[in-house]
Amino acid sequence: MSIAVNLLKYKKEAEEHSASLVAVSKFHSSSEIMEAYDAGQRIFGENIVQELTEKANTLPKDIQWHIIGHLQTNKVKYIAPFVSMIESVDSLKLLIEINKQALKNKRIIPCLLQVYIADEDTKFGLGFDEVIELLRSEEYASLKNIIIVGLMGMATNTTVKKQIKDEYNELKVLFHGIKHSFFNNNSEFAEISMGMSSDYEIALEAGSTMVRIGSLIFGNRSIKTN
Ligand SMILES: *Cc1c(COP(=O)(O)O)cnc(C)c1O
Repeated sequence: MSIAVNLLKYKKEAEEHSASLVAVSKFHSSSEIMEAYDAGQRIFGENIVQELTEKANTLPKDIQWHIIGHLQTNKVKYIAPFVSMIESVDSLKLLIEINKQALKNKRIIPCLLQVYIADEDTKFGLGFDEVIELLRSEEYASLKNIIIVGLMGMATNTTVKKQIKDEYNELKVLFHGIKHSFFNNNSEFAEISMGMSSDYEIALEAGSTMVRIGSLIFGNRSIKTN
């Protein structure tokens, strides 16, 4: 199936659950991104800073770029002028740097805290207690050029649906607890970014507001097409 057909299918499915779709375009070419763009997609996710800046330079300016992968502090300056959301904030140090670079660019950058929910050693993210510690810190309270708009999580890479469902439910419970305790039920704290190609249906059932889908839209990333 074509990229446009795939895109419309997953976009519709997300919208039926009141969620938005992040089309994960990492390792895919600008012309493939344009196929999705021409089909109406505006939110794209990338995880490598250099790849993202090259694409952002040439592609339409109304694309909303999300960083979804681990971000090194020294790379923040390259994306701060234009990135529309950083979904993978996994330390206070990174958040402080994002704030600094956002200030330089006279921007307020929306961020998600990436929470560690998987039963694996390989995934980045903050533990539940670390999320709370960060939000309680004086450093965080002083940051005026970032806004935390929700949480992001990746489930364990497993075929056991029950485990994925339990992990996503935990993230949702944490989200509501944090919204209540730290954001005074503020409507800006609204996003639970969870679900990718292999598990987006479970995530939508569990209350995801943002699914990040790559291979189901663009095909396999191991085949380089540009
Ligand atoms: C690559 C990636 C995705 C998309 O993965 P697919 O399996 O291709 O849908 C989603 N989230 C993150 C954080 C990723 O790095």
